[in-house]
Amino acid sequence: MEARGDLGPARESAGGDLLLALLARRADLRREVPLCAGCDQHILDRFILKALDRHWHSKCLKCSDCHTPLAERCFSRGESVYCKDDFFK
Ligand SMILES: [Zn+2]
Ligand SMILES: [Zn+2]
Repeated sequence: MEARGDLGPARESAGGDLLLALLARRADLRREVPLCAGCDQHILDRFILKALDRHWHSKCLKCSDCHTPLAERCFSRGESVYCKDDFFK
């Protein structure tokens, strides 16, 4: 199965140390903050990418082949994401 899609910020979130400190104490808040599918850390970035029905840090969503960051558009095949060039080659 193949799918492709435009990436966009799923939502905006306030970032920063304050949030991290809150998260350390509040299990209820931890459930609210999406986990990155790439690195398994909470995503406190201003922009959260969504691909393969999962959330990603913008720095964690990279082409499986050439490791180019996929900030704007990604192409997925199975469990992997690719840049345009590698997807179509
Ligand atoms: Zn990540
Ligand atoms: Zn690539």
